[in-house]
Amino acid sequence: MFRLDGKVAVVTGGSRGIGRACCEALAAQGATVVVNYVKGEQAARECADAITQKGGHAEIVAFDVADTSATETALEGVIKKHGKLDILVANAGIAIDGLLLRLKDEDMDKLWATNVRGAVQCARIASKPMMRAKTGRIVFMSSVVGEMGNAGQTAYAATKAAVIGAAKSIAREYASRNITVNVIAPGFIDTDMTHAMNDAQKEAVLKAVPLGRTGAARDIATACVYLASDEAAYVTGQVLRVNGGMYV
Ligand code: NAP
Repeated sequence: MFRLDGKVAVVTGGSRGIGRACCEALAAQGATVVVNYVKGEQAARECADAITQKGGHAEIVAFDVADTSATETALEGVIKKHGKLDILVANAGIAIDGLLLRLKDEDMDKLWATNVRGAVQCARIASKPMMRAKTGRIVFMSSVVGEMGNAGQTAYAATKAAVIGAAKSIAREYASRNITVNVIAPGFIDTDMTHAMNDAQKEAVLKAVPLGRTGAARDIATACVYLASDEAAYVTGQVLRVNGGMYV
């Protein structure tokens, strides 16, 4: 079950954290994985090497999802090279936290450009070969805070809520083309993004997790494999919460 042999997958922000775990898990199921990054070429290479050392197929492609024209050029290159694109994991995201009274327009704009516009533009470009093939899988990465909110994360949470609205709309638009579109809403996952939190913040978040631990990136990656698989063919427009019970 859940095999992805012969499929081509793009994972944005695939070089580190949740994205890297998704790349490795998709490749372990047989997919050829395109690992996207923007700054960290070394990390992207390490991810691709880890996959190829296990006998999988991976390549790296740099583009900034916030730059629509660079994204279009890069993704169309991938589609041309492979002749198709079966799976898009729109995972690339940034967090800029702060209290509402200190919220700057420029931070909101950066968050929107990467987390929402970037993810949606990737879906738009990726959907073209999927429509031709009359099949495809798009997985968006939202967040538990997009559904439950979090003090100090107004702007970030707003982008993650927006991703859910976008995904549900695309799911309805593309259902007749047999393209499924779903969202993973991770809870508190141990990655570079959460390493930026101080101990007091981490302790406070952990108190709110009934399963009593932080999530691992592989906890998200297994959900990603499921949603990308043929077995999830009847699942679309859904938000899969992988959060240790933090929000139910
Ligand atoms: P991370 O460790 O900070 O990794 C972020 C990844 O995204 C890196 O590969 C980074 O590449 C890439 N990236 C950032 N901006 C990009 C851009 N403009 N274009 C292309 N790639 C870009 O983050 P993470 O914790 O794995 O989070 C991954 C996703 O899950 C994000 O959407 C995040 O909002 C969401 N999420 C995370 C958590 C959590 O607890 N960690 C919880 C809920 C949701 P470079 O290294 O090249 O910059």
